Amino acid sequence: MEFARTEETKVLRDPIHGYIHIDLEVIWDVVNTGWFQRLRRIRQLGGAHMVYHCAEHNRFSHSLGVYEIVRRMCSEVPDICNTLSEREKVTVMLAGLLHDIGHGPYSHAFEAVSRTSHETVTCRIIEENTEITKILEDCSKGLAKEVADVIRHKSPNYLMCQMISSQLDADRMDYLIRDAYFTGTTYGTFDLERILRTLRVENDRLVIKESGVYAVENYIMARYHMYWQVYYHPVARSYEGMIHTLFHRLKETGGDDPSVIPLFLPVIQDAEIPLKDYFRLDDNTCTYGFTSLSDHPDAILQDLSRRIRDRDLFKYTDNTPKNRRRIREHLDALGYDKGCYLIKDAVRQRPYVPYTGDRDGAIWVRMKDGSLRELSAASNIVYSLIHGPQNDDNKIFYPKEAE
Ligand code: CA
Repeated sequence: MEFARTEETKVLRDPIHGYIHIDLEVIWDVVNTGWFQRLRRIRQLGGAHMVYHCAEHNRFSHSLGVYEIVRRMCSEVPDICNTLSEREKVTVMLAGLLHDIGHGPYSHAFEAVSRTSHETVTCRIIEENTEITKILEDCSKGLAKEVADVIRHKSPNYLMCQMISSQLDADRMDYLIRDAYFTGTTYGTFDLERILRTLRVENDRLVIKESGVYAVENYIMARYHMYWQVYYHPVARSYEGMIHTLFHRLKETGGDDPSVIPLFLPVIQDAEIPLKDYFRLDDNTCTYGFTSLSDHPDAILQDLSRRIRDRDLFKYTDNTPKNRRRIREHLDALGYDKGCYLIKDAVRQRPYVPYTGDRDGAIWVRMKDGSLRELSAASNIVYSLIHGPQNDDNKIFYPKEAE
């Protein structure tokens, strides 16, 4: 079938891609829904703006960026262009555009407390009778499920799933460059053009030509650096940990005080959050909700909400028995509740996982002799990176008074 085109190509300026190009009615209609516009109110990086003050970019621009990379894959990578049907191209572009539609504010803290997962909510928004479902189904019957299937890795077309989610997918390629740009950490960038030029399809698997290995090494290194410098920065983890603790405390105190905004109630009551409430939960409403808690009768909630608002964040140190003992003693002496004022967080970073199974998202390289090699067998740099010393970081966070 033919998909309706917009009268002229819409171009949206973007600092990463120059322009985002939209010439399909269905894409344009989705962009103009309330659900998609909501992504303007959700920051891309939960706590990193507390470290990098310009990291205020949102999931709206990231989602458009992922769409643009998928669109370019569909039109500029000959193997993809020739493999996918028109309907599959539209489906995978929509999956790129919508892959984060179910993200809530402060994802990690929020998902841990409310026991929701943004992937589940994403598929509900696409399939459960929202304005987006209607646009997709009016465009073509069955389209909503096909888009959701790509996002949940259930599509019979494995190539489409890899384009959206694998170890070399449009999602990661956009957020690495975008997050590097907005944080100012220039070593997070890599040569996207070169990767697109050297992408191939072998059976239904995305592979990279041997001459593209350097660009992929650079991309893996970018990921490695961005994890330690941005995503796992201890200050960002302190901020997110405090938000998580605040929600946790709200749960403990029952949330029946009028200073708790009604939108927080389903989050702390372990109920499934109705989509109409989820729609209204964003960074702005959360900020308002946190600020309201400065009137809460519970002294801990009052204190945590003030600290979050004023960026009076917990300090951190390595989680060793000696450090733990020292901080615990100080917290006891000061009369602090250790459940709320001593936060532990361990992270582990794996910039690349050398799976060997058939369908698990490893990166494959097509060598000059035509054979396929898994990336770490084709690159010394990637091999050393994954076989080097363990990459983990185990910290405790506490108020500076307890130092
Ligand atoms: Ca994403």
